Amino acid sequence: MNNKCPWCGSDKAQINLWLRDEFLTREDFHICECLTCGLLYTMPRPGKEKIGDYYKSKEYYSHQENKKGFIPRLYESVKKTNLRHKYNMATRGMDEGKLLDIGCGVGDFIHTAETHGWECKGVEPSEDARNIAKTRIKGQLLTSEDINQLPDHSFDIITMWHVLEHVDDLKWQVEQLQRLIKYDGRIIIAVPNYQSYDGRYYKELWAAYDVPRHLNHFSKQTISKIFKTKDLQLIKVDRLIWDAYYISYMSEQYKHHKFPLFRGAVRGLISNCKARKSGEWSSMVYVFELKKEENSKFDRF
Ligand SMILES: [Zn+2]
Repeated sequence: MNNKCPWCGSDKAQINLWLRDEFLTREDFHICECLTCGLLYTMPRPGKEKIGDYYKSKEYYSHQENKKGFIPRLYESVKKTNLRHKYNMATRGMDEGKLLDIGCGVGDFIHTAETHGWECKGVEPSEDARNIAKTRIKGQLLTSEDINQLPDHSFDIITMWHVLEHVDDLKWQVEQLQRLIKYDGRIIIAVPNYQSYDGRYYKELWAAYDVPRHLNHFSKQTISKIFKTKDLQLIKVDRLIWDAYYISYMSEQYKHHKFPLFRGAVRGLISNCKARKSGEWSSMVYVFELKKEENSKFDRF
């Protein structure tokens, strides 16, 4: 078994947490902390052949559509608000251009960006999701391998909304971001934050660990350190406030508590209130740009 850190390749690691796949298989996993670069990563890693098995669930929301019932409807309504917020966050100060959404799922974000005039491409490993996306968006849809074919420095914006935590080959992925982004472009990365209040409160039952679908777990410090080694500079930090509620609700379900919706709402609210002071939100959005000596677009924010 390969026990090495997916970022730096070091085998010096300590186990921080023992946990289970609470969502689907109830198999055991653990989370290692690399003692060289600080990244937290899931072990054992299922590998390319087996990872698809862990996504086979009717409840896996990000690839599901037209669901019935109160929770799915609530989820859909929050998703719409979230999409608007994501779009504004990603494009602030930019009118139009070329956008690449990596891990585009069924094309929700691209659909929003296209309606505002952006020329989009999407990358999505799941064939089922790609087939749904095809019916909704104009832009080209690519598999993960197709990324290699895209020309250097050809996108104004690259987005990865809750995708980088799923990526098996983290190093390759970050190198591709560095290669594809324009010199005055921006990369938007949304990932869960285990240093948030809800992350610390639920510990091994925190739903955003979501092992083994989530293979990498980031803090502000580690993601900024990792990207910096590829000349990608963190220029802004934002957040997605609704995720604290959803993750807390899921975590309450894993705890088998009664009234998970109510308890999750309370815990999510506490998490967001604490994050206003600490800056440690349940879901963080990081904005990176290629390091350069001059012409920084930093003042656009
Ligand atoms: Zn490492």
